[in-house]
Amino acid sequence: MLYRTVPKTGESLSILGYGFMRLPRSPGGGLDEERAISQLRHAIDEGVNYVDTSPLYHFGRSEPILARALEDGYREKVNIADKLPPWSVKTREDMDRILDNQIRILKAGYIDYYLLHSLTRESWEKLVRLDVLSFLDAAKNDGRIRKAGFSFHGDPATFRAIVDAYDWHFCQIQYNYLDEENQEGTAGLEYAAGKHLAVMIMEPLRGGNLASPVPNEVRKIWDESPIRRSTAAWGLRWVWDHPEVTVVLSGMNTEADIDENLREASTAYPNSLGDGERPLVGRVRDAYRALMKVNCTGCSYCMPCPAGVNIPECFALYNRAALFPQKWGNTLLYLAKVGGIVGREAHAGLCLGCGRCEKICPQKIPIPERMREVAREMEGRGFRFKVTVAKAGFSLYDAVLRIPNPLRRRR
Ligand code: SF4
Ligand code: SF4
Repeated sequence: MLYRTVPKTGESLSILGYGFMRLPRSPGGGLDEERAISQLRHAIDEGVNYVDTSPLYHFGRSEPILARALEDGYREKVNIADKLPPWSVKTREDMDRILDNQIRILKAGYIDYYLLHSLTRESWEKLVRLDVLSFLDAAKNDGRIRKAGFSFHGDPATFRAIVDAYDWHFCQIQYNYLDEENQEGTAGLEYAAGKHLAVMIMEPLRGGNLASPVPNEVRKIWDESPIRRSTAAWGLRWVWDHPEVTVVLSGMNTEADIDENLREASTAYPNSLGDGERPLVGRVRDAYRALMKVNCTGCSYCMPCPAGVNIPECFALYNRAALFPQKWGNTLLYLAKVGGIVGREAHAGLCLGCGRCEKICPQKIPIPERMREVAREMEGRGFRFKVTVAKAGFSLYDAVLRIPNPLRRRR
């Protein structure tokens, strides 16, 4: 594991940070808590010393699972990053109440890296009005938090204003080879680093969109490289190549992903990509931009939807259909995943256009409008009829599988 230094303190952080936002699921669909715990402990044993959670992740379950994972001496081996959710704050007292509750849930004694979560201009102005800066000072002074920072999904001017407004130790921004000019982008990364902030990176693979499987147009470009890497490894290496980056957060939920990321994190020095590699990544970026329909990272901040729409899943399926155009395969997948064939209905056509989701989306996606588009393109006319037919087909298939097998009985 390689480590990089927090400029204001000299502390060493592993360049691979563990995002506790995308935890593994069991075959039944629930969180696989035991597996999540064993995966995190393995990563810590291999040198990861930064783990990032939030009350928002997995509808409040990420923090208590992290608390269990950090029992048996693991707490002392890592820095915990946790976040104040501005949307839950109405008064100055709320900030203390939320932080105290987080420390209690985490059983951590204190939080090492505490962030104001997903700031935009509006949420920043609200928190400042509620005196958030004195809250951060007090929490640092009484030892409840060690370092103060913020994560951000807004416009570049607000980002710079926030960087300049307080003596932050760190910030967390979205950065990957598709987002060089999006949100804070490269200019924001350099600005924050220039002010001696450690910079933690979220969404290095755009919510998995830049990892495999990849469309043929992209695969052909990667195949031109004499260096063999997975698409995920390419994405991470590109971010680590920037010397201004301190920690790259990766939401890992398979053992293979974790081991691959650990391997990459042992050799990913700043400025280590070769001259031929950077233009190759640039061509991949152009190919993706030409293909993708919606800028959704799958963060799920917009959930739950009061109408029951699974917003990130609908966008993921829509993007998938654009990247891998197989009409019937994509329609069937859409029917199965959000049409109500397996589980409850959660398709785009259920959207009521209330706009609640749009206000919180860090990518500023006009969700109701795009939901209408997804419904038009993925559901078309007669969607109910298609769902009914598909359900009947699945029931028949299920019934056939239940017919006793005489051959099996004879054995
Ligand atoms: S606008 Fe549509 S998708 Fe968004 S929260 Fe409202 S009903 Fe759900
Ligand atoms: S629509 Fe926006 S908030 Fe919802 S998952 Fe996608 S990026 Fe996140």
